[in-house]
Amino acid sequence: MTQPTPDAHPHGILFVLSGPSGVGKDTVLRRALPKLGRIRTSISVTTRAPRPREAFGVDYFFVTRDEFLAMQAKGDLLEHALVHDNFYGTPRGWLLEQLQQGIDVVLAIDVQGALQVRRLYPEAVLIFLAPPSWDELTRRLRGRATEDEATMQRRLENARQELSRVDEYNYLIVNDNLHEATERLRAIVLAERSRPCRQEHRLQGT
Ligand code: ADP
Ligand code: 5GP
Repeated sequence: MTQPTPDAHPHGILFVLSGPSGVGKDTVLRRALPKLGRIRTSISVTTRAPRPREAFGVDYFFVTRDEFLAMQAKGDLLEHALVHDNFYGTPRGWLLEQLQQGIDVVLAIDVQGALQVRRLYPEAVLIFLAPPSWDELTRRLRGRATEDEATMQRRLENARQELSRVDEYNYLIVNDNLHEATERLRAIVLAERSRPCRQEHRLQGT
């Protein structure tokens, strides 16, 4: 009997998840990932101040502006961007290690970062998470209560610009119903893993 070995990737898949602040990226990822095995989220470096319940090395690597610029100068960041007045970047070393071990990685990063990643890795899979409406996005940002009014307005303005780039993504998920959005993200990961080009496609017994 010859049997294909499913999910035997020689190399991990790089997923990028973008979407306006407050749309639900972290929430959807937290629900979708545990059921998918062999996939991890990258922890970014940022100059933003930690929010009350955020921890170093869990939510972000919080650094000073000088530390960030030094990492950038050394080439330690795969991509970086200035988002709402703070720097954010993806550590390069950890990410490449995961991919080489055949582990898929998700970057939850903004549109500028996503397009830099696409230039470096044209095979990266870009997914955009959109809100069902502006009112709902505003409600979620207010509900999260992590931003003052001025910061929130800036995030909403930025969201309008980000939404105008959605056609540059491979997939669009509207996060209306949380369960459905989670299932769609899972479906995308499973579909991408099923592409023949992503699999070693060894046939046992041959
Ligand atoms: P992001 O990571 O995109 O900034 P979060 O995951 O922090 O967003 O979500 C922002 C807020 O929206 C949270 O309070 C979260 O519980 C809520 N939220 C996320 N998805 C939904 C949804 N489908 N319906 C209602 N509220 C949601
Ligand atoms: P927050 O401050 O709400 O955690 O994140 C603000 C924005 O920064 C979000 O759009 C998020 O996707 C983006 N972001 C987080 N980490 C990175 C990163 O490493 N690179 C880039 N380009 N954007 C990031």
